[in-house]
Amino acid sequence: MFPDNLLPVFDRTDVIFESGAGAWLRAADGRRFLDFGSGVAVNSLGHGHPRLVAALAEQAGKLWHCSNLYRVPGQERVARRLVDASFADTAFFCNTGAEAMELVIKIARRYHHCAGHPERHRIVACTGSFHGRTIATLAAAGTAKYLEGFGPVAAGFDHVPFGDLDAARAAIGPATAALLVEPVQGEGGIRPADPAYLRGLRALADEFGLLLLMDEVQTGIGRTGMLFAHEWSGIAPDVMGLAKGLGGGFPVGAVLATERAAACMTPGTHGCTFGGNPLAMAVAEAVLDEIMAPGFLERVRSVATLLRGKLEDLARRFPRAIAEVRGQGLMLGLKTVPANTAFTARLFAAGMLAVGAGDNVVRLVPPLIIGEAEVEAAVGFLEGVCAEIG
Ligand SMILES: *Cc1c(COP(=O)(O)O)cnc(C)c1O
Repeated sequence: MFPDNLLPVFDRTDVIFESGAGAWLRAADGRRFLDFGSGVAVNSLGHGHPRLVAALAEQAGKLWHCSNLYRVPGQERVARRLVDASFADTAFFCNTGAEAMELVIKIARRYHHCAGHPERHRIVACTGSFHGRTIATLAAAGTAKYLEGFGPVAAGFDHVPFGDLDAARAAIGPATAALLVEPVQGEGGIRPADPAYLRGLRALADEFGLLLLMDEVQTGIGRTGMLFAHEWSGIAPDVMGLAKGLGGGFPVGAVLATERAAACMTPGTHGCTFGGNPLAMAVAEAVLDEIMAPGFLERVRSVATLLRGKLEDLARRFPRAIAEVRGQGLMLGLKTVPANTAFTARLFAAGMLAVGAGDNVVRLVPPLIIGEAEVEAAVGFLEGVCAEIG
């Protein structure tokens, strides 16, 4: 039943990666792979980035863990960088995306509690979304297949179709606390929100006195070519969850919030033993140094434009393989004609990693440091697979 002693919740491919450099991974059997999965949008600066390796090694020689009962200077530095670069006034650090989204939900409820409206605790969320695997974040997404068999669904979430502003308005009632959205649905199939939709949600939140919550766990930290994906729409949320790319592969999550939204998060209302530990903060600071350096995001946008153009060209030439190209920046999706799993299996056999997503999509989320050479290599692998399909 448990041949490798591991809880068999993952459908794993039989490969062991031993080392990596940039966008390339080396397997124990000697094979090389072009990594356009990035550990599911995590290895934002690729593998073995010298600055990240040095930051982690240096901190490892000093201090690993320090309780949040004491000051952690790295947290103050990373918080300052994130606050200065965003709508937010304050940051909280945790370890994972689901943990970040749990706090996003808690802040929304607590905000209305302190405003004298404890009955306003419900959150309007979108179908097709993904917010993590905890009891509350599963309920927030409302995906039946992930909830099945895990008992009563946590109360307090209403679901409306992603992209449907009228449905969001109609779902708002006297118990509504907040609206929750991913600016680009990742797991759901790389579905970018129309900027007008996000602006409409912002306006609805303001009209009804709600908080606008965003899940930028996957889209944040440069993935779409902006530091945060909501910047493309010109509006900002009140509270936002981050994780994946922030640590470049070291587990770190964060919640950013405005002063108004977080005013009631007083001592004792939340906590996290490992959150923002010195190792995580050393790496996150180095990641931000790189991604916020002048020119970095411009390069992401231009390499993304190059890649997208070539993908669209492939889709035109191989209509029996690729039905549609979508996404934003380096968060791209190919809706494939054959099963996405069959497509990624062929890519893997050829030597390239990509990740499946909902709606029969093959997700391409390469490290943000890729250049023309990696784009050429990826298009070569993809073209080979498309040609096999016909
Ligand atoms: C991955 C993801 C999460 C969950 O992150 P974990 O670190 O796996 O808990 C939440 N929201 C979005 C949008 C994600 O892509």
